[in-house]
Amino acid sequence: MPNVASSASADTSAGTTGEPLVRMTGVNKHFGDLHVLREINLEVRRGEVVVVIGPSGSGKSTLCRTINRLETIDDGTILIDGKELPAEGKALARLRADVGMVFQSFNLFAHKSVLQNVTLGPIRVRGKSSAQAKERAMELLKRVGVDNQAAKLPAQLSGGQQQRVAIARALAMDPKVMLFDEPTSALDPEMINEVLDTMVSLAKQGMTMIVVTHEMGFARRAADRVVFMADGQIVEQDTPEEFFSHPKSDRAKDFLGKIL
Ligand code: ADP
Ligand code: MG
Repeated sequence: MPNVASSASADTSAGTTGEPLVRMTGVNKHFGDLHVLREINLEVRRGEVVVVIGPSGSGKSTLCRTINRLETIDDGTILIDGKELPAEGKALARLRADVGMVFQSFNLFAHKSVLQNVTLGPIRVRGKSSAQAKERAMELLKRVGVDNQAAKLPAQLSGGQQQRVAIARALAMDPKVMLFDEPTSALDPEMINEVLDTMVSLAKQGMTMIVVTHEMGFARRAADRVVFMADGQIVEQDTPEEFFSHPKSDRAKDFLGKIL
């Protein structure tokens, strides 16, 4: 696989040791009466790949969205590389750029070219020159295998290609951690693997990743840890080998019985 994450090397040289890159402590979140995140404690070390699974509605997307402040929290703390995200403004934009996010629905800018999709953030938020941003964008597009589509609009690409552009766009900001929220669940089956392969390659190069997915093959290939959520709580967590062969809670057994 191409080297998708060379920029991550400076951040990941410590391997999976040292201060956690993401530290959530006692995080609670409500939507009205719905207690959607309950006392979440989660630490993700540098270079670690954590797969989050659980039934629909268990709070997985909300968990991801709180990490980069797309959602506020009611109490608790979330530290990224030891720092809390500021509430707003330029400082938030900069720190949010440390957390790359890839969604189920690609979320590319529809009226910008593939290349512009990847250069806009680095120019606006990281203050790169347009020439620098373009050079880096072409390098990343090449690494995810879509450099020959750079001049096209997103709608002219397949779903798998669009999702790989979304990954390149997130990487262009030199994030410290990448969040993926069901990145393959909107894709036709034949395109799932090209996206998963890109993610596996990123994981192998040491990128710190939190991945919400039901792709157990990905979890087995790339995850250091599986976190199982139900009803807004982390119910259990373990290595993929242990979790899939010996789930401990009834909720996890029941869930795995349905999806495996
Ligand atoms: P998952 O990703 O595990 O399917 P979500 O985090 O999307 O779960 O949602 C958890 C719960 O919170 C669900 O019951 C969902 O309907 C509810 N929810 C999610 N977003 C909102 C919102 N913006 N307003 C109100 N309820 C929401
Ligand atoms: Mg979700």
